[in-house]
Amino acid sequence: MEMTGGAHHDMLEGALMQLDAVAERIKLDPGIHKRLRQPQRALIVSVPTLMDDGRLDVFTGYRVQHDLTMGPTKGGIRYHPNVSLEEVTALAMLMTWKCALMGLPYGGAKGGVCCDSTQMSRAELERMTRRYTSEIIGVIGPDRDIPAPDLYTNEQVMAWMMDTYSMQTGVTSPGVVTGKPLLLGGSLGRREATGRGVYYIVKAATKERGMPFNGAKVAVQGFGNVGSVAARLLHEEDCCVIAVSDHRGGIYNPRGLDIARLLTECAKDGSISQSQDGDRISNRELLELECDILIPAATEGQIAEENADRIRAKIIAEGANGPTTPEADQILAQKGTLVIPDILANAGGVAVSYFEWVQDLQQYFWHEHEINARLSEIMTAAFQRVLSLARVERVDLRTAALMLGVSRVAEAKKLRGLYP
Ligand code: GLU
Repeated sequence: MEMTGGAHHDMLEGALMQLDAVAERIKLDPGIHKRLRQPQRALIVSVPTLMDDGRLDVFTGYRVQHDLTMGPTKGGIRYHPNVSLEEVTALAMLMTWKCALMGLPYGGAKGGVCCDSTQMSRAELERMTRRYTSEIIGVIGPDRDIPAPDLYTNEQVMAWMMDTYSMQTGVTSPGVVTGKPLLLGGSLGRREATGRGVYYIVKAATKERGMPFNGAKVAVQGFGNVGSVAARLLHEEDCCVIAVSDHRGGIYNPRGLDIARLLTECAKDGSISQSQDGDRISNRELLELECDILIPAATEGQIAEENADRIRAKIIAEGANGPTTPEADQILAQKGTLVIPDILANAGGVAVSYFEWVQDLQQYFWHEHEINARLSEIMTAAFQRVLSLARVERVDLRTAALMLGVSRVAEAKKLRGLYP
């Protein structure tokens, strides 16, 4: 799933283009528009790390806080060779619109370290995580900015971050990160939340389109925490998951894949690419399969100008952040494809992160059924809000979702006024 060198730059440009277009549509105050085009804070840090062979490596880390108007900022931390200031800035901006759209009391943030974590040992990852956390410690905290998992980070990474923060402040602070292990104040249902949210959205979207849900043909790009959970839940509800892929490639079986078996194989081999369950296909080919629902749940920029025309799915639910470029969006709109944008489709993760944070602050923990019920409610309500606005304004769902998100932040900024 390679991207061209300019892709991150393009991603930020794309995010700004989207904001500009929405600003025009909602007649956004020019001053507020200018403020929203730039992140409030961006921090670049060096992360010197002792490698197992005795060498010292210096990684570059980032944390960007886009908007702090409505509360602390919120957003994931990714470990990936493509991490750059531009990419993280674009993703922080998306987090702002996502939190606002979902009605969460947060602004958006994103962070990451530019590294290939797949080539690092657990001990190296721990040392890098701890040093990165102490380098950004001045800007994070339960009431400042609350990181969470993203690409190639997980519960263990969150546990190390929470420990580093707690040791340095002298107070055990579960609320400083979300997506933690349960024992350390994590929430039931958080690990599955993003994939589960995608599943609720797909269910709502097929209903809206009058398409049968049972038996619907689904292709999922990415078999990480988002794609694998969405595929499992859809498979359990009798959707026909015909293709899945990970970074090494995908497998395809028009009669449907056995997702439970693939999960076991993946846990054993670390990849699904060796599975005998179907034919080998590439990530590119997966996107172009004949199917009802396509879930891009890998990385950004996967559906672009050059392949958008060949996408045959009727519904695209964006599990990843920014998988569709603005040029591709236009092509898909002309074809009548229903694209459910990332800030809505994958918002289940941050929604349950919010539940986790609330539980940590109150030291009072909820049952899993309560969490899933609230998640279902928050996802379906947001889907309906976006759908109604899209109908009234005659725009696509992404534009409607952005209009809702941006307006809410703008309104809050207006109420607070400009300091000093
Ligand atoms: N990284 C996830 C996202 O992009 C979750 C963020 C969070 O839970 O704060 O939405």
